[in-house]
Amino acid sequence: MLLLEVENLACTYTTGGTLGHNNAQRQVLRDVTFSVSEGTCFGILGPSGSGKSTLARCVAGLMKPDSGSIRFLGTMLWPVAGARKPEPRIQMVFQASSLSLDPRMRIGDSIEEGFFPFRHSVGPRERKERITRLCSEVGLPDEILRRYPGELSGGQRQRVAIIRSLAAHPRLLILDEPTSSLDPVTQSIILSLLVSLHKEFRVSLLYITHDVASAEVLCDRIGILDDGILSIEETVRPHR
Ligand code: ADP
Ligand code: MG
Repeated sequence: MLLLEVENLACTYTTGGTLGHNNAQRQVLRDVTFSVSEGTCFGILGPSGSGKSTLARCVAGLMKPDSGSIRFLGTMLWPVAGARKPEPRIQMVFQASSLSLDPRMRIGDSIEEGFFPFRHSVGPRERKERITRLCSEVGLPDEILRRYPGELSGGQRQRVAIIRSLAAHPRLLILDEPTSSLDPVTQSIILSLLVSLHKEFRVSLLYITHDVASAEVLCDRIGILDDGILSIEETVRPHR
């Protein structure tokens, strides 16, 4: 079954427009089409500036495309009449996860925020159990929940961001260069963690990277993004 269907997506940034200068338009995505089947990992590979994060933001609902469509589990997410509703079954992990954690909040409270869309259906006790289980799953000691982001290493913070995004059982996890701010050893730890979480939680992944080797480890299929144009390369999974 198709989880995500993106068709003919185009996106432009408008910049400038100060003191008599005309607005400058920069088209960042041109006619991007791909789909992600349930339970699979689709990789988007491309150099810096090719439009990867823009594509991620459009799918996550953080940005409006100019044209094209985004369908999730058969339902049209874009275009829609009126404002786009948040889709909690799509979650995103950013490159700089430390920036997405509130420095004044304890780690446990930050993770708990991930449950917000489901606060009426998942009780406090179940939330606590699930958080404890996720921590042990990703190799973080429980006591970390009482700490603040500034007291964690980059790799620990990135694991926290991953737990937070998994807290509420998303169907699609968008990972935008999730390891590129980490050292090589931590990168490979996070990568194998993603492989096992992908299998265990049956969460589909949209894995965005400029690193071919990691995409080959994780992905079933890979699309190459070049200056806003996506070409799809079928891949076999050589390392799994
Ligand atoms: P990538 O993630 O592949 O590095 P991005 O999607 O971040 O690429 O950026 C694609 C292009 O869009 C780049 O040229 C970048 O400078 C430009 N861009 C990104 N964000 C903005 C923005 N908020 N306003 C204007 N231009 C932007
Ligand atoms: Mg980017």
